[in-house]
Amino acid sequence: MRPLLQLLFIISCLPLLALAQDYPPVTVNMQATKVAPHSYYIQGLPGAASAENEGFMSNAGFVVTPAGVVVIDSLGTPSLGQAMIKLIRSVTSKPIKYVIVTHYHADHIYGLQAFKAAGAEIWAHENGKAYLVGDVLEKRLAQRRDELYPWVDENTRVLPADKWLTGDAELTLGGIHFQIRYVGPAHTSEDLAVYVPADRVLYSGDLVFKGRVPYVGDADSKAWLSSLDKLLAFHPAIMVPGHGEVSYEAARDLAFTRDYLAYLRTQMGKAVDNFVPFEEAYGQTDWNRYNHLPAFDAANRRNAYNTYLLMEKEALGK
Ligand SMILES: [Zn+2]
Repeated sequence: MRPLLQLLFIISCLPLLALAQDYPPVTVNMQATKVAPHSYYIQGLPGAASAENEGFMSNAGFVVTPAGVVVIDSLGTPSLGQAMIKLIRSVTSKPIKYVIVTHYHADHIYGLQAFKAAGAEIWAHENGKAYLVGDVLEKRLAQRRDELYPWVDENTRVLPADKWLTGDAELTLGGIHFQIRYVGPAHTSEDLAVYVPADRVLYSGDLVFKGRVPYVGDADSKAWLSSLDKLLAFHPAIMVPGHGEVSYEAARDLAFTRDYLAYLRTQMGKAVDNFVPFEEAYGQTDWNRYNHLPAFDAANRRNAYNTYLLMEKEALGK
């Protein structure tokens, strides 16, 4: 090849090279587990996001149909998203058609840009739009850049959905039907769950946490408790939670999240009724059922405080 042509060839390849090398590789061990004929999930490590787990602390799923792949959530960094695509590629060469976002929290959406680059269409509930214009987005990105650099860096961005859903939606791909159900407001105001009737698999998003203290954030725990009943109504044989291992007994495993939320509400509600200040109430509460679990230190105090504020509002009838 003549030097000029050679140069042009190299330049024309640069964008591709940049795409492939954009994201620093992950070193954490990731596996795709098949839970039903078409359905798979990837289980994140326990606990909160840290340099040690490289942000791999949430679950994601994918369903392989004869016409392509439907992905549920994209993990917590672009690198993890890219690694997830590799895992999908180890199972099938079918195109990745859709990513359903269960909710706009960092650990479920920072991988979206890898899927978008792979040609997938992103679906989410329209209440997620508020996240894209709120302060939380930048604050969380800054915090994650601090904690998860180089996996989260100045090129990491949060993508909007290509299709914003206004409520429940149906999707059929390759003869496999997906019931996409709005189950919020619960963990967030935009919660979606995805049910695959052919496999009787339910991807619950963060309405269900298994094996760690849930992240309640500013969730409406009252509405969350009633949304758990909506999940039970699917009668899934298999439930993939947003965090923790897959469940073959949804009713039993939902109980952990339900009991935790109910306990927070009872304890903090009692304190509000008796005008006990938060610090005192927190110190007096018996946390023995939960303080040995992953993410207790990172999440429990904030969960309790937010519940305290919520119970105050509820007490005032707001
Ligand atoms: Zn979440």
